Amino acid sequence: MSAAKLVAAIDHGTTSTRCILFSRDGTPAAIAQREQTMYYPRAGWVELDMEQVWQRTQECIHEALGTAGAGAADVAAIGIANERESVVLWNRRTGRPVARSITWQDTRTAGAADALAADGGIDRFRELTGLPISTYSSALKLRWLLDQHPTRRAAAERGDLLFGTPDTWLLWNLTGGPDGGVHATDPTNASRTLLMDLHTLDWDDGLLDAMAIPRAMLPEIRSSSEVFGPAAGELSGVPVAGILGDQPASLFGHTCFDHGDVKNTYGTGAFLLSTLGTEPVISEHGLITTVAWKLGDADAVYALEGSVAMAGALVQWLRDNLGLIDDAPEVEQLARSVDDSGGVVFVPAFSGLFAPYWRDDARGVIVGLTRFANKGHIARAALEATAYQTADLVEAMLADTGLARLGELRADGGMTKNELLMQFQADILGSPVAAPAVAEITATGAAYAAGLATGVWSGLDELRANYATARRWEPGMDDDTRTAGLAGWRRGVDRTLGLAAPEPVAAPA
Ligand code: ADP
Repeated sequence: MSAAKLVAAIDHGTTSTRCILFSRDGTPAAIAQREQTMYYPRAGWVELDMEQVWQRTQECIHEALGTAGAGAADVAAIGIANERESVVLWNRRTGRPVARSITWQDTRTAGAADALAADGGIDRFRELTGLPISTYSSALKLRWLLDQHPTRRAAAERGDLLFGTPDTWLLWNLTGGPDGGVHATDPTNASRTLLMDLHTLDWDDGLLDAMAIPRAMLPEIRSSSEVFGPAAGELSGVPVAGILGDQPASLFGHTCFDHGDVKNTYGTGAFLLSTLGTEPVISEHGLITTVAWKLGDADAVYALEGSVAMAGALVQWLRDNLGLIDDAPEVEQLARSVDDSGGVVFVPAFSGLFAPYWRDDARGVIVGLTRFANKGHIARAALEATAYQTADLVEAMLADTGLARLGELRADGGMTKNELLMQFQADILGSPVAAPAVAEITATGAAYAAGLATGVWSGLDELRANYATARRWEPGMDDDTRTAGLAGWRRGVDRTLGLAAPEPVAAPA
């Protein structure tokens, strides 16, 4: 076992980057956080300056070490958790990105995704990759960046331009950048590019051809938990030993190690992941199949994933677009001003319905209004929408896995502070919901991956023993009320379908 007492996690999220130093018992000893600048150069475009992100990462490392009164010798390993799918393209010699990163939310590749799906449908790569064709995956963003400048493709073919998701960019910089930086990724990140074969965990030549991506620019796919290389800089010599995409990192941090374990992260959107095992299950109910983690030489473990686009975002909408509340926590008070939603159902299909419905033509509805309904009912229905959307994902997950019921839902994210929502979630699922004592569960997962590879923790049992639940909500709703609530939600979902205005038909010449 290593003598050093701390494990550092770099958690690079969409809006900020953090460095958290964890003690062996899995609790944070120091946290430093820096916001990063988001760029929206056009409608639907969302970019980050990854040099700034790397700069802020170094500042966070410095500050966290200072807070803990620690130096490199006190840190046994470094783990990375990151927003997935975002694309960084940089020059191997100078270490400088050739453009800003195109982040996961960016929809500029909608036309390219439609064109790719025109031949064989959006599921043409699903068996191979676990993913539908969409604007999320990295591949089309990368091709877009390559096509922007006539010299880029040739430079990529020579291996002079490197591609990476944010984990790869951070790993390369942490391990020395142009001076010997390690160019690698892990399967959880690679599985979101639409370029990796989910079964072999290698880049697939057919996919590279279809997306016109040169292999020479791709990082090596290694595991999620192994020594990638020693860090340079302030943590000089400390092994970088863990990489997990943010959602798999959260699943790992929640110690959802067994088949059927489920976590949901309630933030702006919500992300539900369910651990499968060493065989990928291709969803028949609209979920995505993804790599959950791969620990060293052991077989990869897979997960099913579903997401809710409008979770906390709907609370923001009540605040910013309707002015019903001044800040997000206030929604609970407003929702508690009424006993129930009074029959009001709010389906926030603002940009269509995602898993498990996948309907582009859906738009949001507030239905069931009567003369009696007031803003309290609307606030309550808005909160319930997050719980119902989560219940839809759980139902799809159970159908795909053949499991009869959910044991417990492990929850994290900003909305878990909302007691009303969490209780309603337990009620509508008919299963307990639990929130961990350590809120920084994504960073925890990254630290665990790194600490396992370096002997800080002996194995999964020790991590399970570290997991402490801070809050637990037991289901208390009777079956009839739950069934009626779910039926009302489904009727609301039906009303959303076909509401999007049809594409205008060109007038005859
Ligand atoms: P992200 O990581 O996506 O930025 P967070 O986990 O920080 O999100 O959660 C922020 C989201 O949670 C916001 O959309 C906000 O509206 C919502 N939120 C925060 N507090 C509450 C609350 N008490 N009740 C309901 N929603 C909340």
